Amino acid sequence: MPRVDVFFGGVGATQPRYSRGLPCIFLRWMGRIFILDVGEGCQESFLNFKLGVNAPLAVLISHAHGDHILGLRPLLQTLSLNGRKRKITIIAPAFSRDSVLDGLAAYNYPVEYTELASEEGMINLLDVSIKYVRVPHAPFSYAYSIETPSRVKLNPEKLDSDKIRGADRKRLLEEGVVEIEGRKRFLELYVKERVPGIKVTYSGDTLPSHRLASLARGSDLLIHEATLSTKDWEHNTETPHSTPREAALCALYSKSRLLVIFHYSVRYRHVYELLEEAKRVFPRTILAERGMRIAISGRKERVFSIIYGFEREL
Ligand SMILES: [Zn+2]
Ligand SMILES: [Zn+2]
Repeated sequence: MPRVDVFFGGVGATQPRYSRGLPCIFLRWMGRIFILDVGEGCQESFLNFKLGVNAPLAVLISHAHGDHILGLRPLLQTLSLNGRKRKITIIAPAFSRDSVLDGLAAYNYPVEYTELASEEGMINLLDVSIKYVRVPHAPFSYAYSIETPSRVKLNPEKLDSDKIRGADRKRLLEEGVVEIEGRKRFLELYVKERVPGIKVTYSGDTLPSHRLASLARGSDLLIHEATLSTKDWEHNTETPHSTPREAALCALYSKSRLLVIFHYSVRYRHVYELLEEAKRVFPRTILAERGMRIAISGRKERVFSIIYGFEREL
């Protein structure tokens, strides 16, 4: 059964206030770890969640504002001190290399750094398809969606009756067609069940964006920033962020199954009013909390299990 675990290492904005930490979210699939932004304190969360010092690891950076990147070097240092040997891949916006990696010490493992400059695109990393789109915030800001591979279950009786065995079954799955005794056999005839991959979309910081809503289409989980309430936004129209209502509209338009809002302004000591605002538009919304984990599983009907973890103060 497919399963993805999402760990919320940091969920605040700008400064690490009220035990929220700064943006840093881990996604784990089949032992591989994808880190969505690396705010300060990321390495501590990585160790608290026991994600595995030598796990296959890719870092996706949404943009080069300090609250999203300043935890990278401490993370790399901590992994090195703990004996990591395996390569780390970093995907980040154009022109970010200097501010992210400046003065980076040599570690025990290679670091591969790729900068994005196109409006949208797709990368395959650690057997997972990652799509990205540019979003309106800082110059070169990106949102990402991570989708695990879909699976196909074949009908064994039908395969047997058409004498498709062993290596031919593998080829049928990989190539979609196989030739048996001079006849072409097509995959579609033998599919018993298709299990869709699990899709998680991460907004980074952004103004409301149609492009992001289309990236997020059909997501199991949409993690969307919600910096200011609509009421407070009216006095801060210069701020290139979203309100909870706008995050909820994105979840609604994209037909996402669950919305998690995060990146709360430090002006809010308590953020339940942000949750209430989002839920008026999209009831399946929850607040991100530092230490929270969400397990997504299930074939077609997804099951979400939420565990609250090492900090609880909203
Ligand atoms: Zn931010
Ligand atoms: Zn920002």
